[in-house]
Amino acid sequence: MRNENEFDVIIIGAGIGGLGAGNFLQAKNPELKTLIIEQNNYPGGYVSGFTRKGIYFDLGAEGMLNFEKSGSNKILNELGFNHPVIQIEPIEANYRNNDFLKMYSSRDKLLIEIETKYPHEKENVVKFLNECDAINNEIIALGITSPKLSFRKLLEIIFKYPKLRKYGLLKFSHLLDRFLTDENVKNLFKFYCTWLALKSNEITAPIAANIVSEANTFGIHYPVGGMLAFAENLADHYRKNGGQIQYKSKVEKIIISKGAVKGVKLSDGTIVKSTWVISNADLQRTVFDYVGEENFSKPYLKNIKRKDLSITGALLFLTVEKIDLTRYPPHFNISEEIDFDCLIDRLRKGYFDYEFLGVRIPSNIDPNLEVGNKKSMIILAFTPFDWNNNWKAKDKIERKSDYKQLKKEVTQKIIANVEKAIPNLSEHIIFSELATPLTFERYNLASKGAWYATRYDQIVGDFKSQIKNLLFAGSNVSGGGVGTSLFSGLKTGEYLSDKISEKKK
Ligand SMILES: Cc1cc2nc3c(=O)[nH]c(=O)nc-3n(C[C@H](O)[C@H](O)[C@H](O)COP(=O)(O)OP(=O)(O)OC[C@H]3O[C@@H](n4cnc5c(N)ncnc54)[C@H](O)[C@@H]3O)c2cc1C
Repeated sequence: MRNENEFDVIIIGAGIGGLGAGNFLQAKNPELKTLIIEQNNYPGGYVSGFTRKGIYFDLGAEGMLNFEKSGSNKILNELGFNHPVIQIEPIEANYRNNDFLKMYSSRDKLLIEIETKYPHEKENVVKFLNECDAINNEIIALGITSPKLSFRKLLEIIFKYPKLRKYGLLKFSHLLDRFLTDENVKNLFKFYCTWLALKSNEITAPIAANIVSEANTFGIHYPVGGMLAFAENLADHYRKNGGQIQYKSKVEKIIISKGAVKGVKLSDGTIVKSTWVISNADLQRTVFDYVGEENFSKPYLKNIKRKDLSITGALLFLTVEKIDLTRYPPHFNISEEIDFDCLIDRLRKGYFDYEFLGVRIPSNIDPNLEVGNKKSMIILAFTPFDWNNNWKAKDKIERKSDYKQLKKEVTQKIIANVEKAIPNLSEHIIFSELATPLTFERYNLASKGAWYATRYDQIVGDFKSQIKNLLFAGSNVSGGGVGTSLFSGLKTGEYLSDKISEKKK
């Protein structure tokens, strides 16, 4: 007979990857005893939100690329989970010279916009998007679910998929240069790489073509009620199928004995036993802190150690009142004369210049998020983690007056820049709070506050670890992004579900 502190599977982290894995396992195996251990008191990790004085804020992600028709949504529907989503349209807009250039998922609307602003490039953009679609169609037909390609898939590419064969080893910059002539237009499409912390000459052409094609065909979706509502719905669905979630509990160690997982030790000293452990937590922390170097081979450790992290930044949360923002696109960037490749270069050199800001107005997507005449705005700025001597927090623990003063200065500069697009905004602000990269590191336990985990070109790409019965789920191994992390969690859950079924036979 098992005691109550003994489980079949423990999942570390209720991020979207952990929730995906838990939902798959528990829906397919209701008799299974699984537990998600989450150090925060809410689900979702970066797919979450909070409420201040009755106004809701997303705390991380604000959109899901092609969620409605995605593989993840299909699997979730099969598991009995549904959450309504709203299409964000335009998907993005760029504010420059007192004007917005809007990027639409509707091809017709996008081409009208390009024709109006860059008439000389319209035909080129048509050809470019057609090529991205053709590459993406081959990716879909080949059924690539992980960046790690098997030998069989490589052979298939060589013999059956001409576009992937042609572009497989080329970078996105090559594709842009081949079809487009105007640097401003190229820059519009480079933006998608910025999220992955890569320049257009670093990201492979097929990966970028996949993102461009999906965004400019199927669009980007927002869950009704906000990101937290989506995560809570997933957590509820998991619990309804018999899963358990323990909030405010931090895993300090993964217990390994004779090369196999035995359970976890929490920071309060409690031991929770399990046959399997799935880590949705940060990869480096899982390997070096929770498991310990002694349990991995030297080449594996070297590989993990040298990984660069993705992008991080600051988020400014604002509650505004008595201001009509409905004429603004729900997601827009203030990016006067900025080239996204240069932005990445400057960030890598440790520079933060406020020249690129992302403005998010959730109530312009879901009007129910406006309460009375008050609504939230979220301003996003990419910044280096260690900017200004770790944000003047020195050893990162010391967040005293210098850190607070710096946050005030940054807040003022950000608001001043947003006022270029929304005049007199400051007169309508009744609440403001700035989250820095240090905040993300602290609240999500993400190395250096990384928003998209390991840089996309350096991901491990395998949910199996070197330790028996230890698996990974989420952006640790799949690369960042809501859809990618969720899909990774569902696939880890599917793998373990199959393994457990095999054992039963
Ligand atoms: C500001 C921002 C904007 C973004 N915008 C978008 C966007 O618009 N679209 C998009 O697709 N993606 C976006 N992303 C990226 C996306 O949100 C993430 O890649 C994805 O949500 C990662 O999910 P995950 O489950 O892998 O990890 P996480 O969300 O990091 O979840 C990990 C969970 O594990 C918990 N945990 C960690 N260690 C422990 C421990 N020791 N014990 C217990 N619990 C632990 C954490 O508290 C957390 O809940 C954004 C991210 C940020 C930060």
